[in-house]
Amino acid sequence: MLGALAALDAGVSDVEETETESTIFADTSTCAMDLEGSMGMLVPLSFPQKQKAPKNTKELFEDDDVAVECLLCKLEFKMESEQKMFLKHLFTDHRLVIGDVNQVASLKSYVKFWKARFQSGPLEEFCSVMKMDTTPDGKYSKDEVYFMLSDILPEDKQLREGLQRKRLNVILERQKFEREDMTYSQDCLFCRKKLEGTRADALEHLAEYHNFNLGRSDNLVFIDELLEQIHLRLQNLRCLFCNNQFYEKRALSEHMRKKQHKCINPEHTEMDKYFIVNYLEIGKSWKEVEVCLHFIFIRYVLHLELAGGAGWSSRTRR
Ligand SMILES: [Zn+2]
Ligand SMILES: [Zn+2]
Ligand SMILES: [Zn+2]
Repeated sequence: MLGALAALDAGVSDVEETETESTIFADTSTCAMDLEGSMGMLVPLSFPQKQKAPKNTKELFEDDDVAVECLLCKLEFKMESEQKMFLKHLFTDHRLVIGDVNQVASLKSYVKFWKARFQSGPLEEFCSVMKMDTTPDGKYSKDEVYFMLSDILPEDKQLREGLQRKRLNVILERQKFEREDMTYSQDCLFCRKKLEGTRADALEHLAEYHNFNLGRSDNLVFIDELLEQIHLRLQNLRCLFCNNQFYEKRALSEHMRKKQHKCINPEHTEMDKYFIVNYLEIGKSWKEVEVCLHFIFIRYVLHLELAGGAGWSSRTRR
């Protein structure tokens, strides 16, 4: 992992500005063209615009929360806040499942890409096909057909990797800013000192004076938001590690010190977005997996597959 981080460090200087949606599609269309060996596809392009590095994770992902037309009809859904509704619609109205959807870096771009691509052929061309003896609402019916769009298809895999790379670039640009910016100024989480200078200086103070170690600033991103989250937790008198709530500040600090709970619990997945490592590998995601019909369905399918029952018939790409 250190090697990977070093390599990324070296690459940081290349990331001069946030790449826009147009470049995402330009890239993925190239992938698609290589695969198909033809120029026969049109991908949606948006107007290029220079973007500023997002200040916090909310700003970064708000960009993805725009209404996008469904892959297979004209209905529109906001890809972050209405994601669950969208996935349910895909399943019940179109019998389509997107595999590992929580690991798609930008569902908005993913859906736009595949919507355009689906114009060029039947679903079977791009999706695994499966037959089940049930309708989407659970009624018995022989040989009902379902589709799954996943990275089994090389073109899908490349698209996912491209989107992941774009997001990583945004993250690294933000990190570069945080590393260089000297104007950080916030009150210390634990004492009355005003922490000023770089974010690394602030982290150093927390580690040195309060034995509160968040790790190297190089491994972190959106440090302001991270410290704000920690501040809120402490304000609510909650232990950072075990989440237990206390009635007074003194008891909380005593508890965290004695139990060695003055650190972030790696199991608190809502903190994953502040650690660079979670953006590095495809297939890793800080996004919470929502339990909905979609995933129950996938689990069901996997179960069938493992049990040697009905499986996906993966069709070979041309
Ligand atoms: Zn639809
Ligand atoms: Zn302090
Ligand atoms: Zn605790």
